Amino acid sequence: MLNFTEFSNLISDNIPNLKLERDFPLAKLTSFRIGGPAALAAFPKTEEELSRLLKLCAEQGVEPVILGAGTNVLAPDAGLDKLVIVLKDALEGMEQVCDTCIRVMAGVTMSRAAVFAAGLNLGGLEFAHGIPGTIGGGVYMNAGAYGGEIKDVCTRVRIMEPDGTARWISREEAAFSYRHSCLEDNPWIVVAAEFELTPRPEAEVWAKMKELIGKRRASQPLDLPSAGSAFKRPVGGYAAALIDQTGLKGFRIGGAAVSEKHAGFVVNLGGATAADVQELLQQVSDKVFDRTGIRLEPEVRIW
Ligand SMILES: Cc1cc2nc3c(=O)[nH]c(=O)nc-3n(C[C@H](O)[C@H](O)[C@H](O)COP(=O)(O)OP(=O)(O)OC[C@H]3O[C@@H](n4cnc5c(N)ncnc54)[C@H](O)[C@@H]3O)c2cc1C
Repeated sequence: MLNFTEFSNLISDNIPNLKLERDFPLAKLTSFRIGGPAALAAFPKTEEELSRLLKLCAEQGVEPVILGAGTNVLAPDAGLDKLVIVLKDALEGMEQVCDTCIRVMAGVTMSRAAVFAAGLNLGGLEFAHGIPGTIGGGVYMNAGAYGGEIKDVCTRVRIMEPDGTARWISREEAAFSYRHSCLEDNPWIVVAAEFELTPRPEAEVWAKMKELIGKRRASQPLDLPSAGSAFKRPVGGYAAALIDQTGLKGFRIGGAAVSEKHAGFVVNLGGATAADVQELLQQVSDKVFDRTGIRLEPEVRIW
């Protein structure tokens, strides 16, 4: 098997325009601002580049990992001896495909997709406006907020297999459920998604988006690095309420702490390590379990 220098050279020879970075710090690619270097990072700008990259990976036995905006990932302190394929700000593009439908490439942020829809006098993505992830990451885990979810508006998803071939799957095949889709159970990459929206005046769409951003600013610690809600919503309760009732607001390990503003968020106060965050998540989960009998599971993907 090739080492990463040889593999990087092979990629450059075959896909000359593809941006590649050696030893790229994952802390720069994740909203927690945590994580050591990825051996190799690639930033494919088109479906064609992604497909050719995956074919080379398959030929060389390299298993890449996929990153969108890194807003739901805890990356390891030691870094990753892997190829990380980064889609945010790379796999870009949006178009209107029918009066009420838009197609959005996976690397576009959900906020930008919502703004694009607003400009077409289309509503339905207002809930997604303040979620900082990409469309790919949002589809992957059926992101949602304030009563809306990706599954309410997504009609089909373009996926790429590890051999570089792409096809559309229907909303039914995507099997969306609470913060989950079949993408999590398959080795597929989301390349694009289509959304069926509702005619709505741009001003009304913007009014809703501004209202929801106001709610976020009032309740969430948006001034500190985090990955949003640290725990999934448990059956029979809300993670933030259970953590608050257990007296854990401000509970701290190293540079990681339960937010004073929103107990559902774990924040990086400065210099937090992935080990700090993992230990904090474990201790919070244990303490809540001891007090309430409810086990909290991490929402953030621990790499
Ligand atoms: C301040 C803040 C607020 C947040 N609020 C919300 C909220 O209200 N609701 C909510 O649901 N989430 C929220 N989140 C979490 C996060 O934004 C969402 O989970 C989002 O969907 C993650 O998208 P991403 O592009 O950042 O994915 P990443 O964090 O980059 O990746 C997450 C997982 O998805 C996989 N993945 C990413 N892109 C693809 C792709 N194209 N194909 C296949 N797999 C892929 C990755 O491999 C990884 O396993 C918040 C986060 C922050 C920091």
